[in-house]
Amino acid sequence: PRSGFCKSNSTFYSKRKQLPLPANSSLDVTTFISSQPHRGTTAFIDAATGQRISFSDLWKAVDRVADCLYNEIGLRRGDVVLILSPNSISVPIVCLAVMSLGAVVTTANTLNTAGEISKQIGDSNPKLAFTTVQLANKLPESISVVFTDERVETTRGVRVVGILSEMMKKEPSRERVRDRVDQDDTAMLLYSSGTTGASKGVITSHGNLTAHVAKFVSDDSIRGEIFLCTVPMFHSYGLLSFAMTTVACGSKVVILQRFGLNDMMEAIEKYRATILALAPPVVVAMINGADEIKAKYDLSSLRTVRCGGAPLSKEVTEGFLEKYPTVDILQGYALTESNGAGAATESVEESRRYGAVGLLTSGLKARIVDPDTGRVMGVNQMGELWLRGPTIAKGYFRNEEATNETINLEGWLKTGDLCYIDDDGFLFVVDRLKELIKYKGYQVPPAELEALLITHPDILDAAVIPFPDKEAGQCPMAYVARKPESKLSENQVIDFISKQVAPYKKIRKVAFINSIPKTASGKTLRKDLIKLATSKL
Ligand code: AMP
Repeated sequence: PRSGFCKSNSTFYSKRKQLPLPANSSLDVTTFISSQPHRGTTAFIDAATGQRISFSDLWKAVDRVADCLYNEIGLRRGDVVLILSPNSISVPIVCLAVMSLGAVVTTANTLNTAGEISKQIGDSNPKLAFTTVQLANKLPESISVVFTDERVETTRGVRVVGILSEMMKKEPSRERVRDRVDQDDTAMLLYSSGTTGASKGVITSHGNLTAHVAKFVSDDSIRGEIFLCTVPMFHSYGLLSFAMTTVACGSKVVILQRFGLNDMMEAIEKYRATILALAPPVVVAMINGADEIKAKYDLSSLRTVRCGGAPLSKEVTEGFLEKYPTVDILQGYALTESNGAGAATESVEESRRYGAVGLLTSGLKARIVDPDTGRVMGVNQMGELWLRGPTIAKGYFRNEEATNETINLEGWLKTGDLCYIDDDGFLFVVDRLKELIKYKGYQVPPAELEALLITHPDILDAAVIPFPDKEAGQCPMAYVARKPESKLSENQVIDFISKQVAPYKKIRKVAFINSIPKTASGKTLRKDLIKLATSKL
């Protein structure tokens, strides 16, 4: 097919070079990554402590940890392991070790409350959690814990079954029996709300991850780069990039434990970072603070900023290029469900096609489908974006209904994003059809907040929608129908929710309404509420 264009008016093909998929289908993704030839020496540096690990020590650590997990803890193929950790060198080690056994990695946002985390644990049922002493109090007492801290002084209140640093020192046993791992086996369950409802575990296979990593190892584009990782490793963007792709390519990664603008700049200067992976709010902060930043730090090593997770506007792209003329700004679009695939720009010229998120990822097919009629649309016509390819997840964990609604029998993933593709094959994301709100790149599922709101004795009904916000992209806004005599105030609604959720999920705006508009079948008419909320802007 002529790439980028419609074939028989139905499917768009990626214009990027088609890259070969690995032939050996019985490799687990850890073995695939470790078998890549590269010349990298340092794999990771912790920006705060200066601690480094070489590639050879990284693989030694992965092997030893896997051995302890198998022989001492009895972890087996299919068992789930939770990683609840800030960004650190431990995360890639644990992730690779767990996947090498055919066990399954799941993560949780470290900002989440104990209640939110325990709900997720109830769903994924992990056998074990890797966490820090500080975060352990967010875990239920019943779960076995391995601490990832360098030093552990207290282990109160939790069932500790290991200390990562000690596991990393143990010689592996000579007799090694490991379960066979297939490409079709589940490797990861990362949580996403998809198009509707609460957070669900996205079933990602070894084959999905191998296909993602294979693209980078065969196109050489990031070899030799020095990355600064500021995006969270509990999210697909951070975990796929920095626990897998950069390891396979032999790139050096400087890890920032927690995001801070000055810490980030200091780390660029100190470690001569060449690439930054960021979410749009950080780009905005870099523009606003540009004069001060440039006076204080030497950023001459920096060549590229890769931005993803939420839309990047013309204003922000231009603002960035004006303030940092020697740095390329690239953007990417992907979903947890697509495992890194979607669309991306690869040059500033491509990024200057404002509104476009780039060309489809190599090997990916797309359709644009009218969400009301199901009609397949052509070039420059708007509709829901559907994606198909080797990285598309298999479905949602123990949720057949959501799986069937999201991925059809032919393997097309319905993204819930309203898009079009132009004559040159560029993808434009115009709006979000799905319920999802993104606050600073973090997922906020409205259904979760609505379920909490209606537990308030004064609230009859409620709906949560995205409200545009310059700094955060969007923030959660609630429409609330009060009981007739109620005097419930905006602040009381905000407080009621903020006590129960992670800070990024807080409701930041409230409006009262007599009744929530619904379709005949009882579905909230979110688009009507969004129109109402934004009509005065
Ligand atoms: P997540 O699963 O958390 O990665 O969220 C995926 C969703 O974020 C997509 O379906 C989009 O709605 C949104 N998104 C991600 N990247 C972009 C982008 N570059 N432009 C617009 N929306 C984006």
